[in-house]
Amino acid sequence: MTPGRPVPPPLGKPLVVSEETADPAPSAPAAAQGPPTLAAAYGATSALSGLVPLTVARRAPKEDDVEIEIDFCGLCHSDVHATRGEWGAQSYPLVPGHEIVGRVRSVGSAVDDFAPGDLVGVGCLVDSCRECGSCLEGLEQYCERGNVGTYGVKDARNGDSVTQGGYSTSVVVDRRFVLRVPEALDPAAAAPLLCAGITTYSPLRYFDVEDGDVVGVVGLGGLGHMAVKIAKAMGAHVVVFTTSEAKFEAAIELGADDVILSKDPEAMEGANRSIDVIIDTVAAPHDLNPYFRTLRLNGALFQLGLPPTDMPPVSPGALIRRRLSYAGSLIGGIAETQEMLDFCAEHGIVSDVEVVTARQLNEAYDRMVAGDVKYRFVLDTKTLQPASEKADV
Ligand code: NAP
Ligand code: ZN
Ligand code: ZN
Repeated sequence: MTPGRPVPPPLGKPLVVSEETADPAPSAPAAAQGPPTLAAAYGATSALSGLVPLTVARRAPKEDDVEIEIDFCGLCHSDVHATRGEWGAQSYPLVPGHEIVGRVRSVGSAVDDFAPGDLVGVGCLVDSCRECGSCLEGLEQYCERGNVGTYGVKDARNGDSVTQGGYSTSVVVDRRFVLRVPEALDPAAAAPLLCAGITTYSPLRYFDVEDGDVVGVVGLGGLGHMAVKIAKAMGAHVVVFTTSEAKFEAAIELGADDVILSKDPEAMEGANRSIDVIIDTVAAPHDLNPYFRTLRLNGALFQLGLPPTDMPPVSPGALIRRRLSYAGSLIGGIAETQEMLDFCAEHGIVSDVEVVTARQLNEAYDRMVAGDVKYRFVLDTKTLQPASEKADV
């Protein structure tokens, strides 16, 4: 276990663009490429609207673009936070979804690494500046000029249009941000790897978790259950902390070695100084201090959950007395996401999913917030209504 492992070098074609192909001005309007395609979608029209049928205009593929026919898209808790405006002002209408799996429909003239029919994925990123220190290191998620998220973000290379996500029948994405999904993986169950998978894989790899390390996972939801499977495959002894007694058996079935009811102070005390690294995936504010007490000397707690409001304060003493690190981590870069997909194929890891129809999306959100899902809802995009003749967004 050596914290600070660098990410793998970018795979395939380099992320950096040549001067000729680079967009000259970040906010220049997109060059006319032909008419957009209208795609059926589901999204929010306001923080209170819930999800409703919408039609999205997808740009005609540019020379570096890949047009993808989406088959499945996972439902992440971030989609709930974003569509309900829990993270602050949002641009509506908003089509969420950043756990996208589908097949290539067509490619632009400069694309030679993807072909029609390929099984591909798109995660939380569809672009970045491609030239800052972070981007050049394969850490596009930490782009110093701000990454371009898959939905709800202004896309400077495409006329400042706001990106729209994967609860939709198609999407057009620059080839540099398209992932190869191994054919060995079930496409619906692989979709959550594109966010829940990489978000948990990245800190575990950064911490260089290996045989015999003890990994704690807080919260057994979409991210949490992926953390259990991935940490196990890395050789770790895995301890799950959950607020739900009902999830004890399921946690063991997923591969956890121990399960602790986080509401039980005695059980928490029993775990004192037993863990090397904790992956905290809880979507709501909660007190971290009891978790710091479970860490060994030099241990680390990675905060992955992004609750809408502040957390209770962290006690400095808890950190100081054991030289602990309290860190955050944001999804993962493109090359690391590909590495994670290949790792999952090698180890036979996919998400445990419940596939839902478009009409079930609002109920699925409520069930996710209530913790009533094992462990990820995935939208079957074949159930979306046909696109209308006019785009809503
Ligand atoms: P999820 O499926 O809803 O799982 C969250 C888990 O947190 C629940 O299953 C529950 O586990 C636990 N929890 C405990 N108290 C809770 C409460 N009051 N409200 C909600 N959950 C509670 O969510 P997810 O999709 O895994 O996402 C988790 C968080 O990570 C979200 O805040 C999301 O926005 C964030 N996220 C961050 C990144 C990143 O890059 N850092 C990427 C994706 C998502 P138990 O029942 O076991 O206690
Ligand atoms: Zn997500
Ligand atoms: Zn950058």
